[in-house]
This record gives sequence, structure tokens and C-alpha cells, in this order.
Amino acid sequence: MSYKILSAEIAHETNTFSRIATGQQAFHNRYYYPGEEALGRRANANTELAGFVDAAREYGWQLDHVHSAAAGPSGKVTRAAFDWLCDPLVDALGSGDYDAIILGLHGAMVTDFCDDGEGEILHRLREVCGRQLPIAITLDLHANVSELMCELADIVVSYKTYPHVDMRIAGRQAGDLLQAALKGEIKPQTLRVSRPMLEEVNGGRSDVGPMVALLEAAREWELRDDVHAVSINAGFARADIEAAGPTVLVTAQGDMDVHRRFAESLAEEMWRRRGEVMNEYLDVEAAATIAVRHEADAGPLVIADYADNPGAGAYGDSTTLLRALLEAGVSDACFGPVVDAVAVQQLWQHQIGDHLQISLGGKTDPDMGGGPLELKVELIHKSDGQYSGGGAMIGGLQGSFGPIAVIRVGGIEVLVVSLAEQMLDLQQFKSFAIDPQAKSVVALKSMQHFRADFEPIAARVIVCDSGALCTPRYRLLEYHKLPRPIFPLDPELDP
Ligand SMILES: [Zn+2]
Repeated sequence: MSYKILSAEIAHETNTFSRIATGQQAFHNRYYYPGEEALGRRANANTELAGFVDAAREYGWQLDHVHSAAAGPSGKVTRAAFDWLCDPLVDALGSGDYDAIILGLHGAMVTDFCDDGEGEILHRLREVCGRQLPIAITLDLHANVSELMCELADIVVSYKTYPHVDMRIAGRQAGDLLQAALKGEIKPQTLRVSRPMLEEVNGGRSDVGPMVALLEAAREWELRDDVHAVSINAGFARADIEAAGPTVLVTAQGDMDVHRRFAESLAEEMWRRRGEVMNEYLDVEAAATIAVRHEADAGPLVIADYADNPGAGAYGDSTTLLRALLEAGVSDACFGPVVDAVAVQQLWQHQIGDHLQISLGGKTDPDMGGGPLELKVELIHKSDGQYSGGGAMIGGLQGSFGPIAVIRVGGIEVLVVSLAEQMLDLQQFKSFAIDPQAKSVVALKSMQHFRADFEPIAARVIVCDSGALCTPRYRLLEYHKLPRPIFPLDPELDP
């Protein structure tokens, strides 16, 4: 028999420390695609929706996709935006005769009226469909998973990679499990365990460190007949909410005590290894010193400004690293992005080749990552900021920085953009006449995702903490709602 399935993708990772509230426009800025358009744009790429469609094709589902929407990480989602995302889903569920629901969620959404955005979405749906209809959800590896989410969703599948490159696989896995549940072959439920930690100690890095072994154990446990998915969520630390932090989830059936003991063993291992931080967070001067000495012959030095990653809700306009690179006299370099719509507007008044004075970056909160730089620059490129991804994460997907300008200052080409997006694909430079492979130094704003596309071209990667909003020095942030004590805020829990 052919099942009728309701689907949607709704994603936001909320940095509750950000001054920038997240309204409807923020979703339009990244993407908001109604059903058909979403299928056209996302069903043939590395997305959860593509995984849902793969399952639908195999099982002959009638998949009614409501919409796909994501905003870049930023402050709390407004009630108006949340209702705008949620209402069409609730309305569709109420008016159709559905057999199940499948959702691609992030898992770290906080709204201005509720700290558990995804829990609220599931709650509103359950109010319409009751407890019997199966619901499957996928989550980002950086989800802050609440008990409510695990209670209201039957099937939970999180990505197992960071950089995230398994969205389609996670979507497909959720789809396969949903089909099995519909046919009565499995009766899944999801349990959750945690430790008093703000995040997995390497933010969930799946290329090195403790997560490698944990994910391997998770995959192995998934091979059992009574286990359907094991998800290890690193958590998202820049959220001052009760449910912030890493979790281990097991979607399974049978003797749940056995599965709980397994989950506890993984959580305990994560806790035991909380001292094993893999990144060395250099200050900007140390990063600039390494940059100025770097020999270009072997390939570029890649410097990641971890703290100003727009992909975690930083403003992307921190100036301390650029200032240090300029003061050190670094040349043959590119830097991007600097998020500054005002500077872009000013630059757009000029012709390519013009020299002018601008005030760059540092405007959102000069206390987090430095104030504006007063610079004499040459305008070398302008564009509408559209790009098409080429790497493992966003290959074939369209993205946009909004209007952009490329300037040359000293020996550095700087990509100045209007919309805050993380640098995670070479095309985000190449589309704007900057060739990172040809540079001696490539400075970019990202924590970890850049590694998917930039590590292969890098002679060396270093990570720096510019002091911007996403600094890994969590003790600089003021948390009020977290259960205390918690690692790494409270010294008594230090390893
Ligand atoms: Zn993530």
C-alpha cells in the first residue's frame, strides 16, 4: 500500500547571545522554498529532503512537502517567524489524511517565547494528530536535544559527521525507519542521556579526537536488530537554555535498559575525555606571525577565525584578525568574509579600480572582536553575491552573500559581504574572482566546516580565537538558565 507522508525542513541554530533577532527575512536570506520549489532545488543535493525523496521513491510514498526553510545562525526566532514556519504544517496535517510525518530539523532552535523550538513544532503537530501517527525527524549533529523532542518524535536520526557531509544519508535512514514503523515491522522509541557539559569538547569534530571512537561505537550498536539509530549530538554551546549540551540518543525497541546502559557508556566516555581539546586556539598576533613566515611553495596556510564564525551566530564583522595580518605585513593573502552591508553599499558607489577610504567591520558589537578599521582600499570586484557550491557540503546548492565587493588592502584581498554566511566552500571565494589555491595565506571565518573543501588545498591549517562572539572561552559569556555546575564553566568540574 502507498503511504501519504507529510514533510518539511525547518532549520535554525539559535545563538541566544546574538543581538540580532531572527525574523522571516532571515529565512528568505538563506532559503525559504515552498514545496515544489524545495523539491526542485534540494532533492538532488546533499540534503535531508533528498534522503526523504529517495525513500519516497523506493516505497511509493505520496510525499507532500510543505516547505524548506533555514536562516543563518543568529538570535532568537521571533514568534511571528515561528508561526509563519509552523502554521502551514499544522494546517496541512489538519486537512489531509496522513499516515506519517517526516521532518528535517536542526535541533537548536530557540524562540523569543519558548526555549525549545523543535519541541514546540512537534507539540503543535501532536495536538492535531495525537500520539499514534509516527513522526520521524533528522537533527544536526549540533542539536540541543530536549526530553520533549525525544518523547514526541518516534524516530530521531542525527548527522554523524562534522564537517556535515551526511545529510542525505541521515534523511534516508529516517525514511527507511519510518517505512518499517508504518508497516508494523518496528516499534521505535527514543531515549536520551547526557552529562553536565556545555558541548562535546571538540564541538563534535568527527575527523579527530574522542568523537571518532564514539561514532564508531554508535554505528556498531546500530547493527543490532532492536536498534534503529544511535545519535551523538555535540550540542550547541552558544545557547543559554536548560537543554543545552551534548546528548546520546538511541532510537530502539526491546529491552530499553540495555540501550540506556550503552548510551550511558558513550556519554561517560565523552565526559571522561573532556580534557582532550584538539584545536589550539591562537591569538591573532600569533596567527599573524605564522602567516608572515609561511612559505607559499607548498600551498596556502589556512587560518580559521573560529570565534567569528557566522555559522554559529557570530556577526562575521570582527576585525582583530584582519588588523593583525595587516600590521604584520602579510601579503599574497585573501580574507573572507567580512560582513558589512554598509561598507558594501559605499563600495558599490565606485568603479572597479577606484581607491577610497572606508570604515570596515566592527560595527555590530565592537566589544566582541574589535571595532571598525579605517582603511585605504582599492575596489577590485563587485557582484550580487550569488554562488553555487562545489564541495562535499553544498555542492549543487545555491547560496548568497547578498551584494558583495572585493577590496585590496595592503597585500590582502578582502571579500566584503552583506549577509552573514560561513566560509565552507572554495566557490565562496572563486565566484568572486579570488583564487584561494593561488594564495600564500587564506584567512576565513569558520570553525570546522571549512575543512571539507579547504583542507585539501592547504599546506597547513591553524585556528585562531579573535575574541568575537563565538569565542571558545565560554567563561566570558553570561549564562543564566543552564543547570550548574557545568563543564567548562565551573572549575570544580575541570578534568
Ligand atoms: Zn552543525
